[in-house]
Amino acid sequence: MTVRVLSLLVSLALTAPLSAQAIEFSAQELARAATLQKKLLTLDSHLDTPANFHREGFDIAQRHDHNALSQVDLPRMQEGALDGGFFAIYTDQGDRSPAAHRHDRDAGLLRLMEIREMLAAHPDTFALALTPADAARIKREGKRVVYISMENASPLVDDPSLLSFYHAAGLRLLSTVHFANNEFADSATDAKGAEWKGLSPAGKALVDEAVRLGIVIDQSHASDAVFDDLIQRMPVPFVLSHSSAKAIYNHPRNLDDARLKQLAKAGGVIQVNAYGGYLIDTGKSDARKQAEEALMKKIGAGYDDLSMAQGVALKQGLADLDQQLPLRKATLDDFFAHFEHILGVVGPEHVGIGLDWDGGGGLADLQDVSALPKFTAWLLRKGYSEKQIADIWGGNLLRVMQQAQRHAAP
Ligand SMILES: [Zn+2]
Repeated sequence: MTVRVLSLLVSLALTAPLSAQAIEFSAQELARAATLQKKLLTLDSHLDTPANFHREGFDIAQRHDHNALSQVDLPRMQEGALDGGFFAIYTDQGDRSPAAHRHDRDAGLLRLMEIREMLAAHPDTFALALTPADAARIKREGKRVVYISMENASPLVDDPSLLSFYHAAGLRLLSTVHFANNEFADSATDAKGAEWKGLSPAGKALVDEAVRLGIVIDQSHASDAVFDDLIQRMPVPFVLSHSSAKAIYNHPRNLDDARLKQLAKAGGVIQVNAYGGYLIDTGKSDARKQAEEALMKKIGAGYDDLSMAQGVALKQGLADLDQQLPLRKATLDDFFAHFEHILGVVGPEHVGIGLDWDGGGGLADLQDVSALPKFTAWLLRKGYSEKQIADIWGGNLLRVMQQAQRHAAP
């Protein structure tokens, strides 16, 4: 079982029913929030939903409630007033052998193809966005906005020149690395520690080429030394598409206050994550880990190969495990602790929302995109203006994209 699968299981388990006390909103607050949100452009910067596009039984136009594999589909996007976001080409990198690099190359291209196939199959409801202005136009046309991003640049190791092909095919946001170090950069979470002390020479070349093409760089999952390299190297601002605050929970995936300030000073944006294992210490035992592995074996497929029917069985199996071997669950309160702290450190011009849906995100009391007006209700309760809320729901992110594309323009 890969690290990826285990971490997904940790966080999927976090979406089980809530037992602790949690923040509540009145019906009027939620109605006002939903009305406002429908007016605004609402984008999530990290949707792992393309991981479902190839699954047997998945159709983005259908509702997939009560399934461990799905938090985003068209009915729930409509219900939660989510206009769209960045749909990720995620690759679970192999052992970094030449054969693994070729496998990652093909996996990335296939995922890109699946995103384009989804768009081609749903021309009346989804549309590809390439520029910042495209998002508002697509919303006006009554469709959902699909920007393409890449999480982990491992598909580019075999042939970095593929980046210009990806750009031509729609890629607008690129992260260098994921859970483990690769040829481009050090990960924040590789147990072996630093390999490059930041970006490798190939990583620096990749970042420079992305800047030349106008692709926004995403620092999420990379080590703090990579952050420091980007601050030094980047002529344009960059983002963290799904990260939280180290001051609230000291996890290597989270950013400390000094770097948050540097990010804001450089014009960048942090999109706050709802991945439970980065928000709190879930206190997961070895027994629980083993039980999850046994559950996956019982269901009988690798995570990437699960059908939607198996996703229902997985949800039930995890709920059963919650009874036998409970975990601490991250809640909206935990999320808002990070959100409020980051807003306090950098201000609403440098904060956004990237909740890691379909990639392990979600909270005990907010399990899918249908409940997103709770975020807007919280922002209204805290006194943020409509303009500031619009910036947080996508304006800030699109500003960074505008700067990247302007810098690239001849
Ligand atoms: Zn991620």
